[in-house]
Amino acid sequence: MFSKVNGMSPVNEARSIDSKSENESGNFASVCAAQTAVSLADATPAMRQYLEVKAAHADCLVFYRMGDFYELFYNDAVKASAILDIALTKRGKHAGQEIPMCGVPVHAADIYLQKLIASGERIAICEQMETPDQAKKRGPKSVVRREVVRIVTPGTITEEALLAPQQSLYLAALFIKTSPSRGEVARSAGESAAVQSHSSAAPPSQPSPLEGEGALAWLELSTGEFKTSYATLAQLPSLLARVNPREMLMAQQSYDALATLPWFHEWRDVANVRSALPFDAKRAERSLSQHYHVANAGVLDAFTPAELAATGALLEYVQLTQLDAIARLDIPKSEAQDASLQMDAATRRNLELVTTQNGQRAGSLLSCIDRTSTAAGGRLLAQWLNAPLRDAAAIAARQEAVRHLVNTSREAWAEKISSVPDMERALGRLMLGRGGPRDLASLAKGLEQANQLHEASRTHQLPTLLRTAMDALAGHHTLADALNAALGDTVPVQARDGGFVRAGYRADLDSTRALRDESKRVMLAMEQRLKKETDIGSLKIKFNNVLGYFIEITQIHEKKVSLDFIHRQSLAGVLRYTTPELNDTARAIADAADRALRMELAIYEELLEQVRGRAEPIIAGARALATMDVLLGFATLAASGQWVRPEIVTEPCLSIKAGRHPVVEAAQRRSHQEFIANDTAMGEGARLWLITGPNMGGKSTFLRQQALLVILAQMGSYVPAASARIGLVDKLFCRVGAGDDLARGQSTFMVEMVETASILHQATAQSLVVLDEIGRGTATYDGVSLAWAVAEHLHNVTQCRALFATHYHELTALASQLPHLKNYHTAVTEFKNELVFLHTVREGFAEKSFGIHVAAMAGMPKPVLVRAKQLLATLESGHSLTEEVPPGQLPLFFAAPATMAKPVTHSLAERLASIDVDDLTPRQALDMVAELKKLAQD
Ligand code: ATP
Repeated sequence: MFSKVNGMSPVNEARSIDSKSENESGNFASVCAAQTAVSLADATPAMRQYLEVKAAHADCLVFYRMGDFYELFYNDAVKASAILDIALTKRGKHAGQEIPMCGVPVHAADIYLQKLIASGERIAICEQMETPDQAKKRGPKSVVRREVVRIVTPGTITEEALLAPQQSLYLAALFIKTSPSRGEVARSAGESAAVQSHSSAAPPSQPSPLEGEGALAWLELSTGEFKTSYATLAQLPSLLARVNPREMLMAQQSYDALATLPWFHEWRDVANVRSALPFDAKRAERSLSQHYHVANAGVLDAFTPAELAATGALLEYVQLTQLDAIARLDIPKSEAQDASLQMDAATRRNLELVTTQNGQRAGSLLSCIDRTSTAAGGRLLAQWLNAPLRDAAAIAARQEAVRHLVNTSREAWAEKISSVPDMERALGRLMLGRGGPRDLASLAKGLEQANQLHEASRTHQLPTLLRTAMDALAGHHTLADALNAALGDTVPVQARDGGFVRAGYRADLDSTRALRDESKRVMLAMEQRLKKETDIGSLKIKFNNVLGYFIEITQIHEKKVSLDFIHRQSLAGVLRYTTPELNDTARAIADAADRALRMELAIYEELLEQVRGRAEPIIAGARALATMDVLLGFATLAASGQWVRPEIVTEPCLSIKAGRHPVVEAAQRRSHQEFIANDTAMGEGARLWLITGPNMGGKSTFLRQQALLVILAQMGSYVPAASARIGLVDKLFCRVGAGDDLARGQSTFMVEMVETASILHQATAQSLVVLDEIGRGTATYDGVSLAWAVAEHLHNVTQCRALFATHYHELTALASQLPHLKNYHTAVTEFKNELVFLHTVREGFAEKSFGIHVAAMAGMPKPVLVRAKQLLATLESGHSLTEEVPPGQLPLFFAAPATMAKPVTHSLAERLASIDVDDLTPRQALDMVAELKKLAQD
């Protein structure tokens, strides 16, 4: 029946939401007629109501509230039952067709929502807006009024159970203007609708990877964080990698502009392609002014038109999905792209910043340095790690706070902060109308701790950052006291469950509760009396939702019941009755319980109103506590041993004494091994470090260590070293190894080249580039030539700090040509025929890579090792392998090196044999490569 709907493309699906918002009433009849085979004339009132809701939310699965269940019908039911692995049943017939149905209990809906969201579905939650009794009052055949109250999408989740406490979940909107002129962006943002209609007729534009510009706006609905940033197309990969949105709204034009760019592939799945209409600067100004109740959007002056377009589209989408609920959102803050250290997705992945290569948090830098004790602190630490600073003064402010905390007794502060609940998200839920008494209790507790911390700090001399944080903790007494006075010690999640107002808070509530509880005692007394009067010892007064209170006896006592017993129900072996007296008492209990609940709900609303009135100071306090949590964590790290405050300078240097890799060091410590500290001295005359050394010698560890220390330093943290002097880095690139990306149609070598190309295009003299092997995924000569050229480019053109690890020993000759390149190697020694890795980085280059030794350590079969050694000896003596192994007799397992892809001719073999490798200059070596290649082709 809805097959057409389900066959819609994401673009069309999204537009159907837009069209609803633009023409709210919609043309229901035509939508239904187009999308369903059901004749509306035949529809019962209930069916008609469902079809109306479904037609207005055709792109969503409709969770249709029926009592204690959310039911799904037709294709929604078929789809959801398959995803959720729940029974698909039927509910009657309509127009001669059976109606497929499945349902999930309301109390467990979160778990099912999570699965559906993970499968890429959007869900419209359609609630009952009145009770069946209220509906009946409007007429015997009235259908309970239902309305969609919210649309749940991957980026708009607010449920506590569906959110990872320490992880932010961002919804973003991306606006792209591919013209290189900023002036044109300004004009075109306001004209995006026109641009859109034009572009939909034209084939997708294919901008150069480095031209064009746009803006990203992002927010977290659960905490109200709302930011925006103008970005050139070249800056976008880094910005998206930093924000990592779960859902990203884009107009078709923007999507088309990026669709063919390799880096954009990883964002395709989160892209939600929509109409261009909301991406409009003028329209955005209007909706932002309305939402924030500012007469003119003066606060928005700092935004570029592109930022306005993205911000407005984002806000509209929030309104569209949250319907009547009004989210508390920060006034969007524009962040300059050059305010933070830029790192693209590959760099973040390679450095395992927030997750390891296989997606685990454990083993990442984040998990290694996380000493926070609250969820909000954990989220803030991840934000700082994702966007290290570039402003020396801002870094110094954090360092000052850490220094103060290292030198004072932190325990009292840490203890108070550790018991602070997640106030940001509790407030977010309360403001959206999805909170409950437990969220109020969280605020009460958090604000109380805030007050105490502020009191305790008043006499302290604090560095600016800590003083600002402490000041935000002031002034919460009144609200904390009001909440604590009203709320009992244990409170339910939902207000509708009642029982959360403290006894003694309101006299009228106390007396109503007493009446309710008294009635319960009356019920018990009645049961005792009836037992005696009827002489039925097993008689019981019970309660269920269908019958309410009833008297239950076993069937054998049927004759003993008195005349005023009115039969209600017979079950196997038992009979159920009521009496006039029981009815009266039950009504009294229900009335008192109802009244008590209504009173509690009114008190809940009063408290909520007080919270709403102080939403901004609460958020400021919650964020100040999170900041202190992160800074305390930094201080704990710094104090735990051998971490120092790095000196931050602007000159491009990297001077580290006894530096250590924090993650590897922690792993070594766990296995009772010692991590070997190393020095780094990069700068003029030694900008480019070329590192050779044996496999397993510690090259990759040393390389990443430098990058991680820079990140830690620019986050404002101390670093694991004896001393550190770090020149501010604008962009950090790290290419370590490579894997096939077959899903995106890219081979190992292609991935390597794409990443390297992007580095060479974007790195500046202020950047730090870390390259662990270049050109390994292709033929040796191609590889060594590429590696050579890349090193030359970094040295001569980019002139940045760079660390380059390689097994191409030929490259070490570059040191004689490039004045700022220095050779370093990881030292190794042989002891009793065993290889011993010293993990020490020393000046000079390594002679060999000891690959066969490492293969032996890895358990390679002995015959293979013996044969490999034989072949290596042949090669090292300047002979060709064909001289060692006659053509046609190569063992099956022996893969010919790439240089042997063609049969080696006699003249080529002779020429090779005549070369004295030690006597060649690098230039001659390259010429030789060309000559040999030509010989091989001949
Ligand atoms: P390959 O060339 O094979 O990629 P590599 O030279 O890059 O090897 P790493 O991967 O950095 O070597 O290091 C290998 C192992 O040596 C690490 O997993 C770690 O356990 C250990 N290691 C590296 N550096 C140190 C160090 N400074 N102190 C102690 N152990 C270290």
